[in-house]
Amino acid sequence: MTQEKWGLLRERLLRVVGQNSFKTWIEPLEYADLQDGVLLLDAPNAYVGTYVNQHYADTILHELKLAGEDVRRLSFRVAANAPDRPSGAQTQAESLPESAPAAPAVQENSVDPAEALQAAALDPRFTFDRFVVGKPNELAHAAARRVSEGGPVTFNPLVLYGGVGLGKTHLMHAIAWELRTARPELNVLYLSAEQFMYRFVQALRERKMMDFKHLFRSVDVLMVDDVQFIAGKDSTQEEFFHTFNALVDQNKQIIISADRSPGEIKDLEDRVKSRLQCGLVVDLHPTDYELRLGILQAKVQQFGQTYGQIRLASGVLEFLAQRISTNVRVLEGALNRLFAFASLVDRPIDLDLTQDCLADVLRASERKTTIEEIQRKVAEHYNIRLSDIIGPKRLRSYARPRQVAMYLCKQLTSRSLPEIGRRFGGRDHTTVIHGVRRIEELKATDGQIAEDLEILRRALEA
Ligand code: ADP
Ligand code: MG
Repeated sequence: MTQEKWGLLRERLLRVVGQNSFKTWIEPLEYADLQDGVLLLDAPNAYVGTYVNQHYADTILHELKLAGEDVRRLSFRVAANAPDRPSGAQTQAESLPESAPAAPAVQENSVDPAEALQAAALDPRFTFDRFVVGKPNELAHAAARRVSEGGPVTFNPLVLYGGVGLGKTHLMHAIAWELRTARPELNVLYLSAEQFMYRFVQALRERKMMDFKHLFRSVDVLMVDDVQFIAGKDSTQEEFFHTFNALVDQNKQIIISADRSPGEIKDLEDRVKSRLQCGLVVDLHPTDYELRLGILQAKVQQFGQTYGQIRLASGVLEFLAQRISTNVRVLEGALNRLFAFASLVDRPIDLDLTQDCLADVLRASERKTTIEEIQRKVAEHYNIRLSDIIGPKRLRSYARPRQVAMYLCKQLTSRSLPEIGRRFGGRDHTTVIHGVRRIEELKATDGQIAEDLEILRRALEA
């Protein structure tokens, strides 16, 4: 391996990771050394090193392998002449706590299944104290907290469901961490539904079903993430069902996550669905502005504690919370890029710089729900005509859906109240305020309305 080869490799990486990520993460890296299968790279600062190690190590190792290089591991060093090194930064990226969830490629030695079961990989960042609680996730958080106490099993299973990047995995890991500390005697097993299937298939192939059954039936707390994965996989579902029943019979806690409510998972057997619905089913709602802002603030603070404060102009976080409304993972990705950027330039990050640095992310999340879309979906949902939503009729059967639509416009778009009024047949903004308030009240007292809102919101945010 030489300087030159690293140059060639970078060109391949550019194609694999894309222009933007490349510019932020790969381009600043420089080849330093290769010895005993360890490739040493110079990073401009510890943050970039850590980030690359976490997110791109396996990609880089894979590309190296394709290029015929025998590299087992990456190591990062902060270049001595690095510009603007944040104070307190450590020189070995690998020794930072943030890098503890080592990239998969680093875990090269195979472990036997029994060991692997004990050692389900938990992300050290996914703890309760790093989980920001807001309205959209407070119930899920409270339920997770409760089971993490490891007291008598009151609801079984606990099912956490919600869209991508809303914190399901984070909460599950947090429960596992908490249990490991609070109740070390308990055998807690966390794994994804995919891993469950993989282990099952492996056990079948190696004729070790007895061991498999024994292992899974001997845990005290079983946590299966992304259970929707086993939908349509009949024998895995069957085995899951039996494991599930055996554990419930022994009064062992089961915690499940899914990307939608159990009832809505296609190709999931009815008996599995109904088992899942027996316990406590709570959902993580899409984030709202306050929660997003809270998460951003928390992350900035955590970043500051590890790498030194970064200078953000006021309004930057508010801007991001407003503009990036998809999911927390995207929000985090954007923030990480901003951090890397901030550690390279020698001035505070203001709105202009933010917009430059995140142009593509911002564009991607631009697709906003429109008033018209909301009106159509609501009309469809209540089985009335679009013209009845907009028109003047005051019949309850039109007025209520109209108020629901106004409420959703207020929630899901950034349109002003007068603008919303105008788009509802030229109504006054006070009418909109009244409608929005009415729905807010009903949401708390009328289960049907609350459910309608939920269904509509999901449909609109899909
Ligand atoms: P899911 O499993 O629902 O797809 P994750 O749990 O993987 O989502 O969350 C995606 C990312 O967003 C993770 O890095 C997680 O730490 C972060 N995240 C999600 N919700 C929160 C929250 N409420 N507070 C702090 N971080 C969060
Ligand atoms: Mg997840």
